Amino acid sequence: MELSVGGEYGIVIDAVGAEQFAWLRERAYAGWVLIMDEETERYCLPRIERYLGSTPLVKIVVPAGERHKHLDTCKFIWEEMFRGGVGRRWCCLNLGGGVIGDMGGFAAGTFKRGIDFVQIPTTLLSQVDASVGGKLGIDFYEVKNSIGLFANPQAVWVDAGFLGTLPEREIRSGYAEIIKHALIADEQQWSELRDIKDIRGLDWPAVIERSVDIKRQVVLKDPFERGIRKALNFGHTIGHAVESYFLHREDRLLHGEAIAIGMITESWLSHETGDLSAAALDDIRDYCLRVYGHQHVPEASFPVLLDLMRQDKKNDTEAINFTFLEKPGEAVVNKTATADMITRSLAYYNSLG
Ligand code: NAD
Ligand code: ZN
Repeated sequence: MELSVGGEYGIVIDAVGAEQFAWLRERAYAGWVLIMDEETERYCLPRIERYLGSTPLVKIVVPAGERHKHLDTCKFIWEEMFRGGVGRRWCCLNLGGGVIGDMGGFAAGTFKRGIDFVQIPTTLLSQVDASVGGKLGIDFYEVKNSIGLFANPQAVWVDAGFLGTLPEREIRSGYAEIIKHALIADEQQWSELRDIKDIRGLDWPAVIERSVDIKRQVVLKDPFERGIRKALNFGHTIGHAVESYFLHREDRLLHGEAIAIGMITESWLSHETGDLSAAALDDIRDYCLRVYGHQHVPEASFPVLLDLMRQDKKNDTEAINFTFLEKPGEAVVNKTATADMITRSLAYYNSLG
């Protein structure tokens, strides 16, 4: 199955194998750079190694984890590229989760003013979200994704087979983006997901395909996030703040776990200040709690969370910007909420525990 992104590149949803590498070989690159982290080298490389053949190859392995998505690691990647004799006619293959996709894409998109790259996402989050949409970058100055660029890959190869080695907690975290995509654009998928008791039994290729397609369509309408692409931020204004707050604590939350809190609180705001029905709010709340459980957000953190939201780069002005739901399957962008309402939404969330 292949989804085209504006005729620019294709998202292939299939086992990565001979077919994809034959396509790559036809493009006659002078060589390939394979970027991965220590985990994906161990768990994912064996699935594709046999297809690498005799094309000149520079392998670059970096430590795993968000804290390595920064300039020092990027510098290491660029140095390895120079050392390996990588030129403009090479292609970079980014084998890993969102960290490798964002950073490998950034390194490729800036090396010698940009070389081609292919995304091979290996986490659920990167398969349905990060690998599509052309946003690349690294964290800088303690701010996530603050240095980067928009650039499209030559292709995205989405192989659900990689999920076999991904820890269950990471799968659940990525699943939050699938819930989000359904809530903003696919009422039918939302009503199907809502009935699922155990996500382990899901038909991943089918679920991923539908979710990627939502992201693809939104991105095609608004590649540079001037309007409708902001719909993808549903759950992320409060969610990002909660994620940042918990980042340096022992009980650190994964991205999707924080986004689940964001989806509950932002649904509450959508209901209290907008059109979302009480029944829809209850459904979203119950489902997110069922999948993610409840994590108390200390009251003392509320002012810190508000400050974090004010710094959120997505806000052009002082007002805190939100994407709300009108109903499941329909989002509305450029909404705002007051500090008082946001505080009440967090208190509502805490009352559910
Ligand atoms: P990640 O890349 O850190 O991967 C999570 C962990 O899983 C890592 O330790 C990794 O080594 C390991 N791993 C990856 N694939 C594996 C596999 N198949 N088997 C076993 N282990 C595996 O994290 P992530 O959640 O994939 O991505 C998060 C990043 O994505 C963040 O930096 C975020 O900013 C970014 N992101 C970008 C976009 C975008 O539009 N560009 C969108 C959403 C998120
Ligand atoms: Zn997200």
